Amino acid sequence: MPPAAYVTRFAPSPTGFLHLGHAFSAFEAFEHARAHDGRFLLRIEDIDQGRRRPRFETALLEDLDWLGLAWESPVRRQSEHLQQYESALGRLITRNVVYRCFRTRREIMEAIASAPHGGLGEPLYVGDPDELSEDEIAARVAAGETFAWRLSSRACADLFADRPLVFEEALSATAGLGTHRVRFEEIGDPVLARKDAGTSYHLACVHDDALQGVTHITRGEDLFASTPLHRLLQALLDLPTPVYRHHTLILGADGKRLSKRNGAPALRDLRAAGETPQQIRERLCLNSSKD
Ligand code: GLU
Repeated sequence: MPPAAYVTRFAPSPTGFLHLGHAFSAFEAFEHARAHDGRFLLRIEDIDQGRRRPRFETALLEDLDWLGLAWESPVRRQSEHLQQYESALGRLITRNVVYRCFRTRREIMEAIASAPHGGLGEPLYVGDPDELSEDEIAARVAAGETFAWRLSSRACADLFADRPLVFEEALSATAGLGTHRVRFEEIGDPVLARKDAGTSYHLACVHDDALQGVTHITRGEDLFASTPLHRLLQALLDLPTPVYRHHTLILGADGKRLSKRNGAPALRDLRAAGETPQQIRERLCLNSSKD
């Protein structure tokens, strides 16, 4: 059987209960897959050991099922594949594009105080991968010092000096594709792993999208700033690049994106209050389900 031409996914983190913003993202991805006779996958992004909770995972499966979504089995759970992300990091180490950064959070903040604001939504840090000698690094590692693995945007800019990196963005569900060029100065030197956490969201997400054959990614526009980095990681790891679509965010009454902090009601609370999945769709201004 030829591979499906359209494979998409919804990839929640079980660190809280799902709210309307999650429902919108999940419906969008699910319905695009259906409209294209494609496949819809669910992936549990549970690498944050400090914040993930089994009860949130159970709840999100229940909520998505209640909304009427159906996904393929087995569901990939990232915490079960940490070695794969370590190998991906190993490939980046071999390519000489990552370096150990021993700076504390405070030192990083000081270093970026005057730096330009960057694409990933947080101030950008650009370090010097050659600041420490190999002996110094070995001594600090042996002394048990904590460190982060950072991608060197400068090393990457050199590597791709003659080869512009681009990704395609679907401008709407029906319109054509726009092309974005990756600008290294907007990426900075992001953390890809830490001594005690073998992967970041970025590395695990890019690895899994490729492994799972995802061809189209629909996610909120808050993640648009991560996409240039994801495109760069795909190039570094020789992975294919999906087509992206970043949808507008569902905002709360205060005009800010929904979150637990601004009191966004959890889907399960709306359900307990008697709302139906159809009413959830109406809240999200989605057409009625065609079933
Ligand atoms: N796990 C991410 C989140 O919950 C989603 C990442 C993605 O869709 O690429 O925000």
